[in-house]
Amino acid sequence: MGYETVIGLEVHCQLLTDSKLFCGCSTDYIGKEPNTNVCPVCLGLPGSLPVLNKKALEFALKAAIALNCEILPYSHFYRKNYFYPDLPKAYQITQYDIPVGRHGWIELPYSHKRIGITRIHLEEDAGKLVHPTKTGRIEHATYSLVDYNRAGVPLIEIVSEPDFSSPSEAREYLMELRSIVQHLGISDGNMELGSMRCDANVSVHREGEGLGVKVELKNMNSFKALERALNYEVERQIKLIKSGGRVEQETRHWSEPEKKTISLRGKEEAQDYRYFPEPDLLPIYVDEEILESIKSDMPELPANRRKRFVSMGIGEKEASIMVIEKSIGDYFEEAVKYFGDAKSIANWILGDFLGELNRAGLEIQDSRVKPHQLGRLLTLIKDGTISGKIAKKVFSIMFDTGDDPDEIVKREGLVQIVDRSEIEKVVEEVLSANPDAVESYRKGKANIFNFLVGQVMKATKGKANPNVVRDILQKKI
Ligand code: ADP
Ligand code: ZN
Ligand code: MG
Repeated sequence: MGYETVIGLEVHCQLLTDSKLFCGCSTDYIGKEPNTNVCPVCLGLPGSLPVLNKKALEFALKAAIALNCEILPYSHFYRKNYFYPDLPKAYQITQYDIPVGRHGWIELPYSHKRIGITRIHLEEDAGKLVHPTKTGRIEHATYSLVDYNRAGVPLIEIVSEPDFSSPSEAREYLMELRSIVQHLGISDGNMELGSMRCDANVSVHREGEGLGVKVELKNMNSFKALERALNYEVERQIKLIKSGGRVEQETRHWSEPEKKTISLRGKEEAQDYRYFPEPDLLPIYVDEEILESIKSDMPELPANRRKRFVSMGIGEKEASIMVIEKSIGDYFEEAVKYFGDAKSIANWILGDFLGELNRAGLEIQDSRVKPHQLGRLLTLIKDGTISGKIAKKVFSIMFDTGDDPDEIVKREGLVQIVDRSEIEKVVEEVLSANPDAVESYRKGKANIFNFLVGQVMKATKGKANPNVVRDILQKKI
């Protein structure tokens, strides 16, 4: 009998507000001197009072609308009590019984499966612990330091229903969710830097039986890591059950170097946190007016953008790849303004361009090649100035230098040779240098023709127009 897998995700996204959730401190903490973006509120000093950042609420509402949630007209904050050095107040301000939104859904782009969104709520981030060690291994640290620059940065938590039946579905969802928050402009969704974090809950059960005991996985900071961790955990649980054991409800940590999950702690219950209403903050009222103004200001979302890209003439798969990272879609649309053939632009972006970006470890928006330059390169191919083959070479130089394609073509002498008499000369040279090949072509070996075309192209360093070469060769041979 087979086993079925059940997965639900809890995703945290840092919101791109300028200031923190309950004070005026800057949210810009990356690379900053520790404990410089702090004040009595986010340090949890006695007597300090939090005030809600309106922008953060607006962003959370935007997300709730995009995820098709029911928006609650009234909600409030709670204190979630626990002790940890990165949490100066010894409680986190979060939401509990009434979140900003609930009962939403999201449609997966490839499988078209609809995934339920249980809830979306606002909460504050904690600070960061630093464990200085010479070896880089946390277990060798003899002391820890704490940096509160991140404490109080606004987060939304998005909890899904346990609707995924495979690790790859969970990954597809996370990618779509990231694309949505990017398109909304409310979070950059960067998993490596931790502005998007994902906890995965996973259980297995025998076909036809009820849900199994779930294990919570933490510390996956890439899409690949999420999928790997889930695959590992599904295998582990099935093996355990098959050998007569029982899955314990617990939290496990994904170790990327060891490629396995490691038990961290037993599962805590809600009552362990002694949630109680935050007395220092007013309740949140969301009236129709606020909602209408946010709704009228909603940007285009990935699902629609994909459809629009397809209607511009590119394939569904290509459209998906270009929307999965907002910046790629933006680049594509900008380049199309300069060269109207969307399909060619897409082919270049998804081919040579992404290849170079991967090699260089760059994001498209940081590339030296600007959209108008890509458009210009394609214009040079279209008007016959350079061949498609030469264009690849020009692109590679553009990528390294950021120079305009016209300048590179001129500097490197790459203009296509279309002059018939010039090409005729080379064809004649090639024919007389390869009498055997000519002989066997005439005897019926048709594919020798391509060899001869290749020889002419080689002799002209790829600059001859291949159509003219074929035409002349056909006549001369
Ligand atoms: P808890 O009370 O332990 O926090 P929740 O019911 O709030 O559990 O669910 C937390 C997450 O776990 C949600 O994303 C949910 O979809 C997921 N989940 C719940 N039950 C299961 C299960 N049996 N297997 C896998 N995931 C589950
Ligand atoms: Zn502060
Ligand atoms: Mg829960």
